[in-house]
Amino acid sequence: MDFALTDEQIAHRKEFFRVCSELENQKPASFVGFESIFEDDECWQFHRYCAKEYAKKGWLSLAWPAEYGGTGTMMDRVMFGEARGYHSAPGLDPFGVQMLAPTLLAAANEEVKKRFLPPIANAEIFWCELWSEPNAGSDLAALTCTAIKKGNEYILNGQKTWNSGAHKADWAFGVFKSDPNGRKHHNLTFLLFDMKTPGITIRPIPYMNGATIYNEVYLDDVHVPAENIVGQENGGWAVVNTLAGFERSALDEIMAMLRGLETLVEFCNQTKRNGQPLSRDPLVRNRLAQLACELEAARTLAYRIADLQNRGEMALMDASALKVFASEFGERFAFTATDILGPYGQVKHSKWAPLNGLWENMYHECFVFTISMGTNEIQRNIIAWYGLGLPRMK
Ligand SMILES: Cc1cc2nc3c(=O)[nH]c(=O)nc-3n(C[C@H](O)[C@H](O)[C@H](O)COP(=O)(O)OP(=O)(O)OC[C@H]3O[C@@H](n4cnc5c(N)ncnc54)[C@H](O)[C@@H]3O)c2cc1C
Repeated sequence: MDFALTDEQIAHRKEFFRVCSELENQKPASFVGFESIFEDDECWQFHRYCAKEYAKKGWLSLAWPAEYGGTGTMMDRVMFGEARGYHSAPGLDPFGVQMLAPTLLAAANEEVKKRFLPPIANAEIFWCELWSEPNAGSDLAALTCTAIKKGNEYILNGQKTWNSGAHKADWAFGVFKSDPNGRKHHNLTFLLFDMKTPGITIRPIPYMNGATIYNEVYLDDVHVPAENIVGQENGGWAVVNTLAGFERSALDEIMAMLRGLETLVEFCNQTKRNGQPLSRDPLVRNRLAQLACELEAARTLAYRIADLQNRGEMALMDASALKVFASEFGERFAFTATDILGPYGQVKHSKWAPLNGLWENMYHECFVFTISMGTNEIQRNIIAWYGLGLPRMK
């Protein structure tokens, strides 16, 4: 692997970092991490503002085909992710830009592409994902929410759960049982709909740190135009798999951790315990060095995935391996940082909170990534079956 950039790529990278650095300087005081956008109205408005800034530059449609307004390359997309991650700059709707747009390009009919891609590229519509249900998560195809076709509409009924940011989203993409008597995996349909459609009730699921990011969504006779279908009727499982394959390269999160490490090292340089800077303590130094090594390993893994994606060679287990390593490293990182910060590291929204409560927030949020987008146990199954060729348990 050679990760050297061309002169043109270096110039693009500089521009991504310049813009994201400027946006970082405009962040509201209440912004302590990407999740803040779902909790605080000012942060949500800032998220939309940043999105508009990116849209003006064509950065929300990087590497799309030119006929749909695409600009730039896959490498631009990777470098843009690095810049956003390093500067903790919001503005990229993960559901719309990272998941739905490439899925529409791969699986939607021409009319759906023409209708829904421009509002994503122009930061006009923000999306949420309505997949999981109380009894269907890892085994998603066991879902029971129905979409029954009547005339030129589907009528949705049932309950979805764990829907991140659904209370803020304009539109949703979801998967529903369209043939109640059909065979598992062959009875699902993938639909797009406006979250303001009558019959939708959203209830928050309070997170353990009091944050309101996740939701339950109830659907009672929700009428969705049949033309909002992606893929074929009862062919939704293929669309689900396509979308699930557009997992993040995780580079933005890894760059955010790099910045977090720099901040932590700075804290250790400036904070004295027992009369000397924390950074002189051999135990602290050792732990920081361990984090730095693991971070470098995660970064190299993420570049490798980006390179494989770029060449269209990414296998199912490659992204799973990165997801497991990066999410579990995120936990180790948050635990270590909170430990080093000491008792005040557990404080948020207070003048006593070191680094504006950043690590308190990370400590609570780091568990999310081991569960969402498919749990790490499921990722390990994928690695075992598809990567290592191990036999499945009967
Ligand atoms: C914070 C958060 C945000 C989320 N955001 C969204 C969202 O925006 N939209 C959305 O639709 N969903 C979302 N989800 C749902 C998420 O995708 C599911 O929680 C996840 O897929 C696991 O499903 P489950 O919760 O039903 O757990 P289960 O599937 O019931 O799993 C329970 C446990 O059993 C293990 N397990 C299950 N099957 C196997 C197996 N075959 N082999 C080994 N172990 C197994 C799991 O790994 C897990 O540890 C979110 C979840 C969380 C926690």
